[in-house]
Amino acid sequence: MTATEVPATGAGRAPKKTISYALPVYNEAGCLRLFHQRLVEATDARPEYDYEFVYVNDGSRDGSLEILRELASADPRIRIVDFARNYGHQIAITAGIDHATGDAVIVMDTDLQDPPAVSMELVDAWERGADVAYAQRRTRKDTPFKRFTAHAYYRLLRRLAEVDIPVDAGDFRLLDRKVADELSRYRERNRFLRGIIASMGFTQVAVPFDRDERAAGETNYSLGKMLRLAVDGVTGFSTAPLKAITRLGFVTVALSILGIVYALVLRIFFPEISVSGWTLLMISILFLGGVQMLSLGVIGSYVGRIYQEVQNRPLYIVREIVQHDARETA
Ligand code: UDP
Ligand code: MG
Repeated sequence: MTATEVPATGAGRAPKKTISYALPVYNEAGCLRLFHQRLVEATDARPEYDYEFVYVNDGSRDGSLEILRELASADPRIRIVDFARNYGHQIAITAGIDHATGDAVIVMDTDLQDPPAVSMELVDAWERGADVAYAQRRTRKDTPFKRFTAHAYYRLLRRLAEVDIPVDAGDFRLLDRKVADELSRYRERNRFLRGIIASMGFTQVAVPFDRDERAAGETNYSLGKMLRLAVDGVTGFSTAPLKAITRLGFVTVALSILGIVYALVLRIFFPEISVSGWTLLMISILFLGGVQMLSLGVIGSYVGRIYQEVQNRPLYIVREIVQHDARETA
C-alpha cells in the first residue's frame, strides 16, 4: 500500500509502513536468541513502523530451527522459511527477500556482525529518499587475513567488473519494495547479490558503520565458499578473464614465433649444435601447456555456469513455512 492510499478506517492517518527483515540462518544456535532480542530492542525504539522478520533456515544442523520455532511461537511477526537443505548465503538471502512483504526489506546477517541498531539508520536513509541504502564498513573486526583478502578483492572486482560495485559493502542493506520486486526477477543460480543490486541503478546511498565480531560460533564462510563467491562476482559481471585469455594468446603466439625463428636459425646455420635447443624445447612445451590448461580452465568455468543456468532448476526448495497467527499468542 502506498502512503497516498487512505485506509477506510484511519480517518486521514497514514497507514504504518512495514519494514521486513530477511535473515539468513546457518548453524547460528549460539547467536540466535541474543540476535533476535537485539533486533527487537532496535525495532521497538521505532514504533512508527510495523515489522516482519523472515528467518531463512538454510539447512542448519545445530538446532537453530528449534530455537527459531520457539522464537516464532512467542513473536507472531516472525516467519520461518525452512530450506530442504543448505543452499548457501546468497540463496538464503534471496529466499528472505522473496518471502518478505514489507515496504522495505533489510538484509542482514544473524551473527550480530551487522548491528541491528544500524538497520534503523538504513531506514532513515530510505525515508530521505534512498531506494537502496547499503551499510558500508568503516572498520571490521575480522582476522587480518580476511581483512586483507576482502580489501584486495573489492578493489580487483571494481577494476574488472563492468558495473560499479561499492567497495567495503557486504549484503547488509535496505531495499525499497520496488527494488526487491525487480530483484526477484533475477533468477541466476550463481548469484552475487551486491553486484546485481549495484547494476540495477535507482538511488543508492552508503551508510557507514563499524562491523562487529561474531557474537558466537564461527564463520560459515570457509575459504572455499569465499573463493566461489569471489569468482561468481567476477564471472557474473565481467568477461575480463575471457578477454585476458585472448591477450595471453597473443603474447604466447609472439613468443612462440621468436622461438620458432631461433630454432630454425640454429638448425640451418649451426646444425652441429642444434641439439642444444633442448632447454628451449622443454620450456616452450611446459609454458604452452600451462597457458592452455589455464585458458581451458577459465573457459570451462564460464561453460559450467552456462550449463547450470540453462538447466534452470529452482533456486531453492522450501520444506516448510512457519508463522504463528497473532491471535493465538495475543
Ligand atoms: N549463512 C547461510 N548459509 C550458509 C552460510 C552462511 O545462510 O551456507 C548465513 C549465516 O548464518 C550468517 C550469514 O549467512 O547469518 C553470514 O555468514 P557468516 O557469518 O558465516 O559469514 P562472514 O560474516 O564470516 O562473512
Ligand atoms: Mg558473520
